[in-house]
Amino acid sequence: MKRSQADRDPRPNPRRSARLASAERRALRLAFVGTFWSCLFAAGATHAALACDEGALGTSRVLSVGTQGGLEIGLKTYPRTLPLADHEVVFTFDDGPLPATTGKLLDALKAQCVHATFFMVGRMAAAAPALARRVAEEGHTVAYHSFSHPLMRLLSEKAARADIEHGFAAVDQAVYGSAGDRPRTPFFRFPGFADTSALDAWLASRDIGVFGTDLWAADWWPMTPQAEEAAMLARLEKEKRGIILFHDIRAQTVAMMPAFLHDLKARGYHVVHLAAGPGHAETREAGPGWSSETEKVIAEILGRVGTNRN
Ligand SMILES: [Zn+2]
Repeated sequence: MKRSQADRDPRPNPRRSARLASAERRALRLAFVGTFWSCLFAAGATHAALACDEGALGTSRVLSVGTQGGLEIGLKTYPRTLPLADHEVVFTFDDGPLPATTGKLLDALKAQCVHATFFMVGRMAAAAPALARRVAEEGHTVAYHSFSHPLMRLLSEKAARADIEHGFAAVDQAVYGSAGDRPRTPFFRFPGFADTSALDAWLASRDIGVFGTDLWAADWWPMTPQAEEAAMLARLEKEKRGIILFHDIRAQTVAMMPAFLHDLKARGYHVVHLAAGPGHAETREAGPGWSSETEKVIAEILGRVGTNRN
């Protein structure tokens, strides 16, 4: 927040306040209202930035993501994504919180003033509510990833909806101490990206956005932290930007994070933090020849092509 000239001027000047025209006061009030919300969103980043040295990666901007009428983004699954600029990345972490790993990850992010979105599993948040609260308290966005992490295509629509709703409630109860009719933040990611058209439509009717991803660390495969970091950097150098999926329950991901954040800074990348916003988010369409990578994986997992996706 910028301070006014009057705030900066240390000299007493009683005539100045008298001269402050009503138009100027109005302008100051408008400026305050305009910056109030962005300061609220960025409050965590501001505090963290104060504690960070200039060599830190930091969080360069907050992107307001509107989900009115629904939103489906992430090029691994959908033919559109967020309009990130060259060398802009979004950090997302799935499946936690887990006491053995998530706390260390939060330490690594805090050390570099990086803010991320955590797609929490309801039963994990219920089992570690203090850790779930810490995620929110440190300025990250808390989002949802179901209650028990089932592959929704193996469930009836009724059972799938119930698990998703249970996840919203369990995470909100853990993080905020109460749960209402709607999730606090309208961001959801399907376990295994295995959505269905019916569930997509239901979420859209509730103004809840569905998040896929543009890149992933493939950290469900065991590998050394060094191998994971090298592979992730190579993918990023090819794509140059995007939403990245990690799992904060994976020790190898937590172990590689300090080096990864350092190397992103060295390579000129910028971190974008997602926050829920009004309206419908702008998106960038996939290039020609796009196809869903996750559909192929899901088909392999389910052992057949043509599940109840449609
Ligand atoms: Zn997951």
